[in-house]
Amino acid sequence: METPDPAGAGHLSILYRGPLASCDYDCAYCPFAKRRDDPERLRADRAALERFTGWVAAQDHPISVLFTPWGEGLVRSWYRTAMITLSRMSHVRKVAIQTNLSCRTDWLAQADLGRLALWCTYHPSQVAYDRFLGKCRDLARLGVRHSVGIVGHPDHLPDARRLRDDLPESTYLWVNAEEGRLYTDAEAAEWAALDPHFGYSRLPHLSAGLPCRTGETVVSVDGDGTVRRCHFIPEVLGNLYDGTFRAALRPRPCPVAVCDCHIGYVHLEPLGLYDVFAGGVLERVPAGR
Ligand code: SF4
Ligand code: SF4
Repeated sequence: METPDPAGAGHLSILYRGPLASCDYDCAYCPFAKRRDDPERLRADRAALERFTGWVAAQDHPISVLFTPWGEGLVRSWYRTAMITLSRMSHVRKVAIQTNLSCRTDWLAQADLGRLALWCTYHPSQVAYDRFLGKCRDLARLGVRHSVGIVGHPDHLPDARRLRDDLPESTYLWVNAEEGRLYTDAEAAEWAALDPHFGYSRLPHLSAGLPCRTGETVVSVDGDGTVRRCHFIPEVLGNLYDGTFRAALRPRPCPVAVCDCHIGYVHLEPLGLYDVFAGGVLERVPAGR
């Protein structure tokens, strides 16, 4: 199931990250592992997300949204509700979320699956292989567009191979280079045999001075509506809710030396990843899948 490319006149892609910073998993490589949000923070997260959904509803131009919570969103009812609500808006081209897929999948039946997608990550230390694979099979059965990925730690290689074998060929399996790990060519080749696009993740991209769509057709938004060009550049462009960000939208080069996260460099123009991931830029699904 292919959906329109997010590039295009008047279209805005929004990477949203609210106050939520807790997760039901405990991955060794994650600073948010098993963190608990107190009730006040959860209430604030819910209110912020509902405000954001209301803002999207009130717009008259096409919008795509990727939720990139610090922790796990889909175990919270308000993220599931937001996904359903946004998927049903005719001017929303895509609503996607990064998830560990620990949540139930039955709620997806309420969404418009022509506009919804999941970016799923398998964390082998946190969930039994068969349980995770079963969730992926549920998604395929329900017709939910999704990608599945794993961190390229050497201990994960057997699971990654097994997953590649067990998932339908049409499901893209991505591999993220582990932060700080240098891969020999032989090691990189093992991961590239599973993910043909691993080369984009293997090394940080030298981005300084290069044109990047963020700050023009892509923005990052936090729970207060503060708009930045991307999650990695602290400079504020304005606020979503008072509309001040709009005057700041324009083409602009990347101001930092490197960009090493897919949710950033996918928008870095010289890499040409809008072609590689045409129709699936936000949820990391390559063209033709
Ligand atoms: S599932 Fe994701 S957010 Fe949760 S602990 Fe693991 S890496 Fe962190
Ligand atoms: S290349 Fe990466 S760090 Fe630079 S502006 Fe784009 S998304 Fe941000």
